[in-house]
Amino acid sequence: MQSRSVTILVPVYNEQEVIELFLSTLSAELAAISDTAFEILFVNDGSSDATLSIIQNLASSDQRISYLSFSRNFGKERAMIAGLDAVTTDAVIIMDVDLQDPPGLIAEMIAEWRNGYDDVYAKRRTRNGETWLKRTTAKQYYRILQSTTRIQVQQNTGDFRLLDRKCIDALIRFRESERYTKGMFSWIGFSKKEILFDRDPRAAGETKWNYRSLVNLAIDGITSFTTAPLRISTFLGIFVSLAAFVYLVVIVARTLIWGSDLQGYASMMAVILFLGGVQLLSLGVIGEYVGRIFNESKNRPLYLIQHEHRGVPQ
Ligand code: UDP
Ligand code: MG
Repeated sequence: MQSRSVTILVPVYNEQEVIELFLSTLSAELAAISDTAFEILFVNDGSSDATLSIIQNLASSDQRISYLSFSRNFGKERAMIAGLDAVTTDAVIIMDVDLQDPPGLIAEMIAEWRNGYDDVYAKRRTRNGETWLKRTTAKQYYRILQSTTRIQVQQNTGDFRLLDRKCIDALIRFRESERYTKGMFSWIGFSKKEILFDRDPRAAGETKWNYRSLVNLAIDGITSFTTAPLRISTFLGIFVSLAAFVYLVVIVARTLIWGSDLQGYASMMAVILFLGGVQLLSLGVIGEYVGRIFNESKNRPLYLIQHEHRGVPQ
């Protein structure tokens, strides 16, 4: 079979402890794969530790290594699009540097790609080293997201996947600034193949996510994927208005028949507070979407590159 080339795309942010270990593990796996030329593209997402100099060092002795270095931290989603913009090979494999995405799967991904699949994604069979709370919230989140949309959302799947040139060309046309790449992978379609793996805890260093950033990602996910929350406020509005109308008729009739005795302070407060809450919530939902429109309409560049180096696939 004719030789093909694949880029291993690795976003890194303050990962000085683990880069060398990652590269040696990766190299051992790549050495066992024949008929494929590899390029390793690190996207340094504005690290403040020694990450960049470690990569520069490695690149001076390894021809396959390329890197882009951002002018500041832009986040993993943008690091990925920057990497995809820069890929020149026939396919890309996106993976984390912390060895939570085992390089041992690369051979299988490439085999499936050669079988004709365009998007070979790794699905977690287990999530070792994650708390019960994180697992349950993730599960419920996917369930809610899936119920709002026709597009198949992939559960327990991260960004670890092989994408054919077709998918790369499709993905780099997505220039939205609040990015939810996981949704885009589903959106583009093409022939997908799932392979299963066990996800281990981080090899070294610390996770860059805390619950706040995860909640933000979750809200970005919903608001960039679907407008269902707007529809929910509409239905809520209709329901509350109808109920209020029925109650109004009842009160008027009662007052006409028995006269008013000026009671009902407690129920009035309950209704006012409840409706106040519902209105604020609906405003918040609208605000989320208006905020997104505002951010997108500024049309700023997605990332800025400060240093750049190209290696040669081999
Ligand atoms: N990462 C990044 N920019 C960020 C945060 C993370 O490029 O702002 C990279 C990080 O270096 C790692 C990958 O994204 O290679 C996944 O991050 P992490 O392991 O912290 O996430 P988790 O596996 O805990 O979801
Ligand atoms: Mg990780």
